[in-house]
Amino acid sequence: MRLLEMNHIKKSFDGQEVLKDISIHVDEGEVLSIIGPSGSGKSTMLRCATMLETIDDGAIIYLGDKAAFSKDGHAVYAKAADLKKIHSYYGLVFQNFNLFPHYSVIKNITDAPLRVQKRNKSEVYAEARELLKKMGLEDKENAYPYQLSGGQQQRVSIARALAMKPKILFFDEPTSALDPELTGEILKIIKNLAAEKMTMVIVTHEMNFAKNVSDYVVFMDKGVIVEEGKPEDVFNSENPRMKEFLGKFE
Ligand code: ADP
Ligand code: MG
Repeated sequence: MRLLEMNHIKKSFDGQEVLKDISIHVDEGEVLSIIGPSGSGKSTMLRCATMLETIDDGAIIYLGDKAAFSKDGHAVYAKAADLKKIHSYYGLVFQNFNLFPHYSVIKNITDAPLRVQKRNKSEVYAEARELLKKMGLEDKENAYPYQLSGGQQQRVSIARALAMKPKILFFDEPTSALDPELTGEILKIIKNLAAEKMTMVIVTHEMNFAKNVSDYVVFMDKGVIVEEGKPEDVFNSENPRMKEFLGKFE
């Protein structure tokens, strides 16, 4: 089942076109990796998908069980009620964790399900503790972010995103602020989520990970999709820009 379509997205900042007619789609249970040099528009694309940025043109369509929502460039936003629905479709995990520094771990995880989704408190806490266990952090629920390593903070932010029960989880370079050994622990968690068929869109510089875990890979450069397809095809592409980019990782 198709969960998300981004069709012909254009986005400029100060007259500079950062996304030039970008189209992607995400199917349920699939892992889509987005790779490409710094400045190519990867974060902007995720920020548009998650409505942290507006788009200038094109459409972003979240296809749910029954409903489809769209946001066209000029045709502004969905009604507030629909926006709220769209927001609970996805979660976003940032490069720099973005935890609330003044909230404990458990409060970071339970805050949005309680406040935004208005779900039952004991149920939300029980699920949060399950998620912490899954992340290997069952003894950290009362810790504050500053008391945790980067890898632990990132695991909390993954738990926080999962607590909203998103249909799609977006990651923007989830390991690039981490040391290599901590990178491995986060990649393993994402790999486990992939094995559970969590639908994920991952911007990453971890080429082996993208090659081994993705169902589909998109290579962006200077605001356009230069190459896309199954990992074995994209990573063996003869496209000169693709080859030059991959060459930097050897
Ligand atoms: P990537 O994530 O691939 O490194 P980004 O999407 O962050 O690329 O950035 C793409 C381009 O858009 C860059 O040139 C960047 O400077 C510019 N850009 C991103 N966000 C903004 C913004 N809020 N205002 C102005 N320029 C921006
Ligand atoms: Mg980026």
